Amino acid sequence: MLTGWFLFGALILFTLGTIFGSFLSVVILRSMRGESWVSGSSRCDECGQPIRWYDNIPLLSFIMLRGECRRCHKPIHPLHFVVELLTGVLFVWWYSGFFLFFQLAEQPFRIIQPLFWLAVAVILLVIFFTDLLYMIIPDEAVAILLVLVGGYRFALVIFGIMRQQDMVATLLATVAAIVAFLCLYLITKGRGFGLGDVKLIAPLGLLLGWPNTLVMVFLAFVFGALVGIFLLLLGKRTMKQPIPFGPFLIAATFLSLIWGDAIFQWYLQLIL
Ligand SMILES: [Zn+2]
Repeated sequence: MLTGWFLFGALILFTLGTIFGSFLSVVILRSMRGESWVSGSSRCDECGQPIRWYDNIPLLSFIMLRGECRRCHKPIHPLHFVVELLTGVLFVWWYSGFFLFFQLAEQPFRIIQPLFWLAVAVILLVIFFTDLLYMIIPDEAVAILLVLVGGYRFALVIFGIMRQQDMVATLLATVAAIVAFLCLYLITKGRGFGLGDVKLIAPLGLLLGWPNTLVMVFLAFVFGALVGIFLLLLGKRTMKQPIPFGPFLIAATFLSLIWGDAIFQWYLQLIL
């Protein structure tokens, strides 16, 4: 039920999300430039001028300043705005999910489950943009994700929430997907996609299980092909220029989590 309190909570969560997104965008840009992101106050990426608090309000400052630094008038990286907005939306999505169906979870998963999904979503958001902008999938991010997802899955089995045969199917699907991607990586000699994409498959497969891992791989290739053809037609890319594949994997993962079962059923009807 959409009550006033629910909307009030959503607004609070959106605000918190944009603030956290502001921090994330700084982490992404600074770590990709090899700078430390734990030390130092907010500074203009171009002229190094410290940013005053009123020019550092998530979303609003970017709009007020029309995307330019107040001092040097160089454009502020649009990543700041995009990540702030997406993290805000992510927090609201998470909040509504928490209220609508995570209530059903058994203890101690009532608390662990929503925190788990928020952490996974934030890490995937970071990988999405580092790969999109810099063609880098940070090993650290993939390792943290793997430990998180692997630990969560095994905890579900130990507590009897996930059946053992489902866990076996999840492991088999993940290994099969990794092997398939490794073969494609070797056949294309790393031009199709990088080793980072192969590694990313491990946590994504454990997260999705069977049959959603298959749906995710299928969707990622469809998206990749569509965007690739589109960019070729626009003349933005040639066949030789690689396109980062991580964003397709992550977008496909989000869709598979939501509609994976429906897509799989639809596909079965097509071939049977
Ligand atoms: Zn500046």
